Amino acid sequence: GPAVKTLSLEKVYGSGPTAVRALRGVSLSFPDGEFAAIMGPSGSGKSTLLHLLGGLDRPTSGRVVVGGNDLSGLSDRRLTLLRRERIGFVFQFFNLIPTLTAEENILLPALIAGERPSRYAGRLEELLGLVGLEGRRRHRPDELSGGEQQRVAIARALLRSPDIVLADEPTGNLDSGTGTGVLELLRESAGRYGQTIIMVTHDPRAASFADRVVFLSDGRVVDEAGGLGAEAI
Ligand code: ADP
Ligand code: ADP
Repeated sequence: GPAVKTLSLEKVYGSGPTAVRALRGVSLSFPDGEFAAIMGPSGSGKSTLLHLLGGLDRPTSGRVVVGGNDLSGLSDRRLTLLRRERIGFVFQFFNLIPTLTAEENILLPALIAGERPSRYAGRLEELLGLVGLEGRRRHRPDELSGGEQQRVAIARALLRSPDIVLADEPTGNLDSGTGTGVLELLRESAGRYGQTIIMVTHDPRAASFADRVVFLSDGRVVDEAGGLGAEAI
């Protein structure tokens, strides 16, 4: 089945007259290896959807199925484990630990999972190559450019080979050239590792890089379009 699926997803924040219906029946299916972009105006429910897909919050009703697991059936503890094992997160503000070097930041998910970082020596080299940071491995975040910091964050998300990568505005704080590099990197990762990458973005170039663009408006899917393909740019 698909890597990620939602069925009639609803999310209501608050209650009574001030309740906000952030998602109003969203049913989507993301196949293995797809690089999908979620776009739409501010307040349309994009972040809410990404949080529900990653099990960071629970829906009011409807279902999220990740790798065959219905998240609503999982306890908070099992949800945390599934997140750690299967999902990588990339954020707009990179969320790197300032006192750690690039390679220590990349190895962090291994430490959190209680594994020896030395197990990932080969994987670390592969990822430093993929993101082009071999020469910056001992630099701390404040010694790296914005684009380099985001590449560290992407390598960190990929460390334990998650099936799914969720990215929230990964190019939101980058200049356009650097942002293009990050989009290329995400697409290459989906292609090389067969990962499902779901990215929330305002970046107009996303349509040229993603396999599919899902448009949200007022908590509903209003359009789905295949990406233009890299050939188009
Ligand atoms: P987007 O990411 O597309 O900007 P969001 O998912 O952040 O949209 O928000 C969708 C709607 O839900 C908005 O009206 C927003 O104000 C509301 N919302 C989001 N998070 C919360 C929250 N924690 N509490 C109350 N309302 C929220
Ligand atoms: P970009 O144009 O890609 O945003 P910058 O102009 O910020 O990059 O940085 C150019 C190079 O200088 C980068 O490779 C970065 O690693 C390095 N660099 C930037 N700031 C520092 C710093 N405070 N200390 C050491 N190296 C830095």
